[in-house]
Amino acid sequence: MTDLTKLSAVDLAGLVATGETSAVEVTQAHLDRIGAVDERVHAFLHVDTEGALAAARAVDERRAAGEELGPLAGVPVAVKDVLTTKGVPTTVGSKILEGWRPPYDSTIVERLRAAGTVMLGKTNMDEFAMGSSTEYSAYGPTRNPWDTDRIPGGSGGGSAAALAAYEAPLSIGSDTGGSIRQPGAVTGTVGAKPTYGGTSRYGLVAFSSSLDTPGPCARNVLDAALLHQVIGGHDPRDSTSIPAPVPDVVGAARLGASGDLTGVKLGVVTEFTGEGAEPGVMAAFRESVEALAKLGAEIVEISCPHFRYALPAYYLIAPSECSSNLARFDGVRFGLRVGDDGNRSLEEVMSLTREAGFGPEVKRRIMIGTYALSSGYYDAYYGQAQKVRTLITRDFTTAFEQVDALISPTTPFVAFPIGARTSDPYQMYLADLFTIPTNLYGGPAISVPCGLSDGLPVGLQIMAPTMADDRMYRVAAALESSVGTFTPPAL
Ligand code: GLN
Repeated sequence: MTDLTKLSAVDLAGLVATGETSAVEVTQAHLDRIGAVDERVHAFLHVDTEGALAAARAVDERRAAGEELGPLAGVPVAVKDVLTTKGVPTTVGSKILEGWRPPYDSTIVERLRAAGTVMLGKTNMDEFAMGSSTEYSAYGPTRNPWDTDRIPGGSGGGSAAALAAYEAPLSIGSDTGGSIRQPGAVTGTVGAKPTYGGTSRYGLVAFSSSLDTPGPCARNVLDAALLHQVIGGHDPRDSTSIPAPVPDVVGAARLGASGDLTGVKLGVVTEFTGEGAEPGVMAAFRESVEALAKLGAEIVEISCPHFRYALPAYYLIAPSECSSNLARFDGVRFGLRVGDDGNRSLEEVMSLTREAGFGPEVKRRIMIGTYALSSGYYDAYYGQAQKVRTLITRDFTTAFEQVDALISPTTPFVAFPIGARTSDPYQMYLADLFTIPTNLYGGPAISVPCGLSDGLPVGLQIMAPTMADDRMYRVAAALESSVGTFTPPAL
């Protein structure tokens, strides 16, 4: 009998649509897999067994009634715990929201449900999406299915690990500085950050509102594109949502799969191919660049001189926005409340709640952000970082006058051992060295597996102009047709 957990989302949807397999069987197979391996992986913070089976039954009933099903109907999906799910716990990986059951669905989740996908549960993440390893989750780390002594990336390590461990064929992540792409790279899976405003932030617990972008994760490029199509598009409830249709990402993925990149010009970012990346990562990247050239792409080198300032600019802008966004977690309206014994002032209760509810990395960011925004320092830090952001955006627009897309390794290093970078925040921040510029610019970028280094996955990043998300899917699918997909050793 076929192991349903090993199939792609496209194949699963096909089996459900023809009635060869029921959505309930598909869902049960994934719930069983979670039961068998998640104790070792810890990709999930919450598994919604009842809700998933009910959603699957509804799909089977609709099929039996002769209703037309969407392209992903009956396919299970795991959702990062940063998105609100009505009646289903949403913690953002933090103790401050432990036990909170949101009264509404985020737009992404609403669209997933409307498309007939089956939500399996909520995935583990660094607290408030701040981190690159899931080690900053208040609920313990997720482990990389390729080697359970190593990190699965972050902040969306749970969403990536669930794919690599075959616990789900699809998952949702959010990318503020790399949290979809970096976990994708280190788990051998595909992760796409859509154009900022191309996917709705309504119901996405805010970290850094000018950067936060929800997006699709999958084990292959076409599956990611199908998921992107389902969740993307204008949402009037998000004031920065772009009022335009989703670029034809599915058509582009299919086109790319033919393996022909004739007429496509790609720029290798010289700032990201020199020092700073492990030799094994660079070797896999160079081989993939040759593969892209063999498929017909023209390859040139492009310098983006301000990219080297992206990391420091990000670590002022993101903490500044977070210090403001996280003010709402005060123990008054929802979540944890500490010290409310009738004798303490409101301010004392707020302070005790935040002291107990936030972890060290979140506190560090709030303090940095508050400092950067304080009067007297605003111009020197936050203001300066915004100017750098403009220069980085100009680097992108100048580059895109010369090439169709930019490429680089996704991350400087492969999955590192658990505990290796927790004592020095800067070492953790370096994981996103290559992914952050795109967030500051707002364009789309995808990470696609491109090879192995010492048996661990390496990702290649494709960055495209804003609202040209289709372009990166074409290149990603072409590369995949050449290098294939990567399967972790059996757990
Ligand atoms: N690792 C980066 C950070 O810690 C990016 C996080 C993200 O994209 N959510 O801020």
